[in-house]
Parts: sequence; C-alpha cells; structure tokens
Amino acid sequence: MSETEMYDLIIIGGGPGGLTAGIYAMRAALKTLLIEMGPPGGQVNNSDSVENWPGEEHIGGAELAMKFSLHAQSYGLEIRAVEVTELTPGQDFHTIKLADGNQLRTHAVILATGGYPRKLNVPGEQELYGQGVSYCAVCDGFFFRDKTVVVVGGGDAAVEESLYLAKLAKQLYIVHRRDELRAGAILQQRIKAECNVEILWNSVVTAVKADISGVCAVELKDTQTGEQREQATDGVFIFIGFEPNNKLVPAGTKINANGYVITDDKCETNHPGIFVIGDLREKYAKQIVLAAGDGCTAALAAAHYVETRKAIETCELPDEIKDTASS
Ligand code: NAP
Repeated sequence: MSETEMYDLIIIGGGPGGLTAGIYAMRAALKTLLIEMGPPGGQVNNSDSVENWPGEEHIGGAELAMKFSLHAQSYGLEIRAVEVTELTPGQDFHTIKLADGNQLRTHAVILATGGYPRKLNVPGEQELYGQGVSYCAVCDGFFFRDKTVVVVGGGDAAVEESLYLAKLAKQLYIVHRRDELRAGAILQQRIKAECNVEILWNSVVTAVKADISGVCAVELKDTQTGEQREQATDGVFIFIGFEPNNKLVPAGTKINANGYVITDDKCETNHPGIFVIGDLREKYAKQIVLAAGDGCTAALAAAHYVETRKAIETCELPDEIKDTASS
C-alpha cells in the first residue's frame, strides 16, 4: 500500500555531503530523512587511506565513512535504504517517488547523489569487468598480490590508487595519455619513488585482452607516433575521472555542458527549495571536505527555506514578504 509522508527535508545520498547535511539539519530541528541505497559514506568507502580530512593525518576511508554515519545517527537522523525513482519540484512541496511504491512530500530536498567512474569505452572493458577490470583498488587490489597490474589515468585518483596497489603488486604500469601527470605534486613525488612502478607516457589503452583465466594484456597506442603494442598484465584499474549521477535532477534545472548542476552560493538550484551538493554540483574541485562544506551550507539554507515556507503556510508573513519568499 502506498503512503504519503511529509518531511521538512529529504536528503538523497549518504556520502560525506549528505551525512553532514543530516547532522546540521537535525541540529536545526528539521524533520529529516536521508535516503541511501548503498553503505553510508559513498565513495569514501573505496579509499584505502584519507590524508586530507582536517584533524586526521591518516584514516581509512571506511572508518571515516562509519564515523560520519554514527555522528549523524547520534542526532536521531532517519536513514532509509530504498531507491528514489523520481523527484518532482512543486510550489508548496516537492514530491519524491520510491521504488517500493511509496511517495514522500517534503519542503526541501538536498540532492547528494555524486557520480560514477568514467569508462574508457574500449573493447573488453565491459566484458571483463570483475574478471580483471576494476574501478576500485581497495575492493579488488587483494586479488593482484605479486601480480602485474595496469592503472589507467594521471589524476589524483589514479596516482593515489597506484600507491595502494604498488604495495600489493609485483609490477605496476601507469598508462597516461600525456607526458605529465595531472595529480598533485606530493602524490607525483611518492609514485615516482616506487621501485615497482613504471609510467608509460603518451599512451592510451585501445583494448583489454583476455585468456581463459581473465585479463592477460592491454593493447596500447602511442598518442604521438600511433604505434600499437601489447602490454601483458593480470589486471586493469581504470581511474580516468568521473561522471555526475544526475538522473534524479528535475527537468528544467540549470546544468553545465558536462552534466554538473549549477547552484548559487547556498547550493540552491533554480528550483526553490531544491539544493545540490558534493560531486554532482559544478565547482572547482571534488574533495571530501568540500562535499561536507556543501552539506553544511545547504542544510543551513534549507532550514531557513523551511522556516519561511511554514511561516507562509500559517500566514505569519505580510503579503509583500510572501511574494518575495515564494519567488
Ligand atoms: P581527474 O582529475 O579528472 O583526472 C582524470 C585523469 O584521467 C587525467 O589524468 C586525464 O588525463 C585522464 N583521462 C580522462 N579521460 C581519459 C580517457 N578517455 N583516456 C585516458 N585517460 C583519460 O579525475 P580523478 O583523478 O578521478 O579526480 C577527480 C577529482 O577528485 C579531482 O578534483 C581530484 O583532485 C579529486 N581527488 C582528490 C584526491 C585527493 O586529494 N587525495 C584523491 C582522488 C581524487 P589528462 O590529465 O590528460 O586530462
């Protein structure tokens, strides 16, 4: 049987941004629900070690995720594991449809759905996913102890994950399409100091090859000479960036050419009362601390929005203020 419950705020996504929003929303006494299908913490769970969360020199990703979740739940935040299928903006309230057939109403929404690893889209990648192709070193690195692995990409993620894999693998090759890494200077210094890591510059993977036991090689192309060759490997880890998960973003929302949502400085979209935070929001960098900062901003702004909506509903505001508040 379907039900329609009413909330002050519904947060969709339980990564660092969503959970921080949950903490601030509960402290602001909003009736709040956080919906997350996976384990609380989102992508942070895939990081072996987080070294740039203030106050923690080194902390495991899964441990940090657990701390965020316990902190939010200590305020009594309601968390539900269910899929959201649709978000429809409205003037008086927004409507959220769930895969279990239920429907929820809320004054404000914070969308914190992050994104997905970008794919290479080369032959063999999809077919060999789980049989040597991976997008998560912490999840799958163990299977490559004393083996040869290829990491694709030159950004922070590729280098950070390579540092983790280099401790397990016998030999690691980083395949990067240019002659210079994009990753930050400290990560570059560290990876260049690893004896079992070689960077294959100006190279792209054009296919992933397999034998009976899974991945056995990658086909490489030199971006300058066009020359093709094969590199034997037992596994391929792909870290070439990120695609925003914008499938719940309502029609008519301002997004940029890459699919990231454009917000104002309160993280509010062009739909009043709908906020977007974290990796789904257009901004300069993607960091755990920035997602958490977004969560704080959006929850504080949502609290103000909800207070204004309730004042309008109970006719506490003069007409001229009602007009500006609801526009
Ligand atoms: P990123 O910074 O966008 O780097 C993507 C890398 O993949 C780049 O080196 C890019 O090459 C390469 N690439 C992209 N498309 C490719 C393709 N089709 N074929 C081959 N190579 C391709 O992505 P990221 O490393 O996932 O990081 C995402 C964000 O998270 C960044 O803001 C990053 O700073 C942040 N992050 C931070 C940390 C940390 O602070 N510890 C850790 C992880 C991520 P080009 O360089 O030639 O463009």
